[in-house]
Amino acid sequence: MDKAIERIVIVGGGTAGWLAASLLAASRHAASGRLSVTLIEAPDIPTIGVGEGTWPTMRETLARIGIGEAEFLAACDGSFKQGSRFDGWVTGGADDRYLHPFTPPPAMPTRELLAAWQADAPDLPFAAAMCAQAHVCDLDLAPRQRSMPDYQGAANYAYHLDAGKFAALLASHALQRLGVRHIADHVTGVQRDGDGGIASITTRQHGDIGGDLFIDCSGHAALLIGGHLGVEWIDRSDILFNDRALAAQVPVAPGSPIASQTVATAHAAGWIWDIGLPGRRGIGCVYASRFMDDDAAEATLRAYIARVLPDAPDVPARRLSFPTGHRARFWEGNCVAIGLSAGFIEPLEASAIVMIELSLRALIDNFPARRAAMPIHAERFNELFRYRWDRIVDFLKLHYALSQRPEPYWLAQRDPAHLPSRLVEQLQLWRDQPPSAWDFPRVDEIFSAESHQYILYGMGFPVPTDLAPADHATASLAEIRQRARALAAALPVNRDYLDALQRPTGALAAQ
Ligand SMILES: Cc1cc2nc3c(=O)[nH]c(=O)nc-3n(C[C@H](O)[C@H](O)[C@H](O)COP(=O)(O)OP(=O)(O)OC[C@H]3O[C@@H](n4cnc5c(N)ncnc54)[C@H](O)[C@@H]3O)c2cc1C
Repeated sequence: MDKAIERIVIVGGGTAGWLAASLLAASRHAASGRLSVTLIEAPDIPTIGVGEGTWPTMRETLARIGIGEAEFLAACDGSFKQGSRFDGWVTGGADDRYLHPFTPPPAMPTRELLAAWQADAPDLPFAAAMCAQAHVCDLDLAPRQRSMPDYQGAANYAYHLDAGKFAALLASHALQRLGVRHIADHVTGVQRDGDGGIASITTRQHGDIGGDLFIDCSGHAALLIGGHLGVEWIDRSDILFNDRALAAQVPVAPGSPIASQTVATAHAAGWIWDIGLPGRRGIGCVYASRFMDDDAAEATLRAYIARVLPDAPDVPARRLSFPTGHRARFWEGNCVAIGLSAGFIEPLEASAIVMIELSLRALIDNFPARRAAMPIHAERFNELFRYRWDRIVDFLKLHYALSQRPEPYWLAQRDPAHLPSRLVEQLQLWRDQPPSAWDFPRVDEIFSAESHQYILYGMGFPVPTDLAPADHATASLAEIRQRARALAAALPVNRDYLDALQRPTGALAAQ
């Protein structure tokens, strides 16, 4: 039982599997030379192939793995993401839009900031008043200049990327530079050990592959955590109804603008994502099959593409179905589920890849040196990630709960029977006090109080009546407007920055 953990076996070669392999192989535990990392993937079971929006955490992840920023952007047809814009979520009207940027409001009491906003610039959207990034996004600017050190910016940022190219980059980096062993084969079964865990993985052509720690990255199949260990699935579709998506990749003309944010446009029974990459736009219609059939979803997607890219060629759209929920436990015995095998909640705030990163950080920072310690690690991990899944459900539901749209889907979304009880309580409190650390007390909250403020006040939620005017808050908002002008003059547009990465190094002008 008290055996050292030295052999890690990962099942699955999607974004989750290759991020797991890369981060584990680049960790200090592997540097000791005693840890081996093996990744097994079925060559003929495709990865999900979507997942194009990340969080700012990806910058630290890539730095930890040892991939340079320019190499990453060029290899993945990547672009910068500085937040999400929500169009049509409140009423569906022409001017109905708000931004959830990655840069938080100034660090001062929210009541003072709200007072300054209401007194000075009540017509300015909340995000534009609270951070210069909103102006940067309006102008399609990059968050950094090329001369800055890798992964540093003038504003907080993440990436948009081509999911297939990202997995390929991670795979080649893990195999060529980090010493990961790769087995292309089908997993057909597992051999259990005497402690209720897994002793080895059975493959079709490579026999049994033994290990000490198994990472289930097998996607929706959840081969180990669900299939062999039988950990219960907790369905959350009573709260979040969307269960299908139609994904299209629409080529764009050379030189066309590249947006700085994901645009999420609400429709009668869901929403459409629009993600700008240098070579194409990833556009997808997310919908609830209970409220919209596949033909109507296809028509909704086509109408959107015709509106935003009238000259676009006809492209096929891929249909995806997804369950909404997560496992009751993510770490069972000596198996940790990461990625879709652990759970999936619709992609509204792109919370899936960040959960992969956070799971791996938790695992690596609390690496189980020996088997005897695993139950302690497992309990802590399970408690932390159950909390995080619950908070994702609450935060995504907030976007729907505040809508005033009249369609049956939207009415059902805000039916009290489909609202999480904690969110109902918080909405009541937020009428009198803005979201704060009292509502989100953990140091490692997945969605901060500030993110909640961007959604609430972006969607027109009433500000509390007892605001606290303060001169320093007024001065701080004036500084933000000044900084927005300074950034507009200093930052390159996304298109120029990203096109320059594709030119030979000698041709690059420092921007
Ligand atoms: C519509 C949609 C939009 C999304 N958008 C975003 C987004 O913007 N941002 C974000 O963060 N996330 C997004 N996601 C989620 C994101 O795509 C996934 O979290 C991410 O790709 C990780 O997937 P995965 O690696 O867990 O699974 P997969 O990509 O499905 O990989 C599973 C792997 O397991 C292997 N496998 C399966 N069975 C076997 C077997 N028997 N033997 C061996 N190997 C096997 C397969 O070959 C494959 O390599 C989106 C998801 C959907 C559905």
